[in-house]
Amino acid sequence: MKAEDVLKLVEEESIQFVRLQFSDINGNVKNVEIPTQELPRAFERGIMFDGSSIEGFVRIEESDMYLRPDPETFAILPWTTDGIKSARLICDVYKPDGTPFEGDPRYRLKLVVEKAKKMGFVPYAGPELEFFVVPRDSKGFPVAETLDRGSYFDLLPLNQVESLRSEAAVALRTMGIDVEASHHEGAPSQHEVDFRYDELVRTADNTQTVKLVLKTIAIKYNLHVTFMPKPFFGINGSGMHTHLSLFRDGENAFHDPSASDGLSKTLYYFVGGLIAHAKEITAITNPTVNSYKRLVPGYEAPVNIAWSKANRSALIRVPAARGKSTRIEYRAPDPSCNTYLALAVMVAAGLDGIEKRTDPPLPIEENIYTMSDEKKAQIKIESLPGSLKDALEEMKNSTLVKEVLGEHIFRKFLELKRREWREFSISVTDWEIRRYLNV
Ligand code: GLN
Ligand code: MG
Ligand code: MG
Ligand code: MG
Repeated sequence: MKAEDVLKLVEEESIQFVRLQFSDINGNVKNVEIPTQELPRAFERGIMFDGSSIEGFVRIEESDMYLRPDPETFAILPWTTDGIKSARLICDVYKPDGTPFEGDPRYRLKLVVEKAKKMGFVPYAGPELEFFVVPRDSKGFPVAETLDRGSYFDLLPLNQVESLRSEAAVALRTMGIDVEASHHEGAPSQHEVDFRYDELVRTADNTQTVKLVLKTIAIKYNLHVTFMPKPFFGINGSGMHTHLSLFRDGENAFHDPSASDGLSKTLYYFVGGLIAHAKEITAITNPTVNSYKRLVPGYEAPVNIAWSKANRSALIRVPAARGKSTRIEYRAPDPSCNTYLALAVMVAAGLDGIEKRTDPPLPIEENIYTMSDEKKAQIKIESLPGSLKDALEEMKNSTLVKEVLGEHIFRKFLELKRREWREFSISVTDWEIRRYLNV
């Protein structure tokens, strides 16, 4: 869709307001609403906003920034406020001199796509979005409780969640996103929504939309959808396994029909690159203190840096599908990440493997959770960083991450996240009270 098609549609559909959306460094959706009459101007010159108020953007002295809507992202919002119809457009962020803002996560991802293109590839991604649905208290605040724990009497809220999921799927379809599956996940109150894979920028945009739609529709049911990676100790956390593939001249470049396992050299090098860079990209794919409570043995989340053609305790799995569907599944990311940045570092790591012809280690087909430490050391299986602090240490020394994020985000991200870690490390947790109050 081009700008003029959008302007025509807005008129035909009597849309009164358009929300211009973009994402901050943490992946939170920001938006400014403009009346439809302003839309031609937005397409021509962009809409000015104060970048100094956005997390990870700019200083006060240089705060004028411009939002330029991407007409391809036009979608009518599936809900109305007092009967007023609105639409949304996802925007790119520009500086007053008319050049892209180097701290815009969407721009960083576009640069990685450019790089892939120069190498002859078009990358595709499809995330599996897991989340918990929790109740709200009488004031409307979310409560950390599961809904379908306990007896059959919990059937009513469970039905509500089923309706929430189907309603979200219908709403997303009207916005151009095909939900391919949605189901209850392993843990109580946990669910998953899978939508169709696409090119990287579209997939990151779609992820933002799916999160927003789920959260918005949940309010109607007086429920809350949370993308917190590990809200409950003792049960599975929520991941955002990401399926990745590369296409070349319309063909899947991970597939090689002449290889005994059907997998190309390109796939092997891509896996090699991801394994070589796994530690340094973890702060981006798993950016919160809580992310590391999920990455522990026994809950279907990866801990060890290994790959496999079947086994789900590995960091990277190659699903059985071949032909056009040949892909790898990177299982570390969780839904608290900024999807633009996470896709950018994952794909950049894989491309780096292709460029450097990095051979991956041998695939591990046995359950790594139950493998002894001696055996792991013997076959040189390393672990993902165990805390946000460790992950930031790894990231700090990474030229790959620095290049992908750019100076601006690289510096801001480390600064913000170090502060987050410091805050956590001086707070006194419930666990400490239970453990030490008797001392
Ligand atoms: N929830 C698990 C995780 O944290 C994944 C469960 C699954 O999809 N098999 O990654
Ligand atoms: Mg799944
Ligand atoms: Mg799942
Ligand atoms: Mg999966």
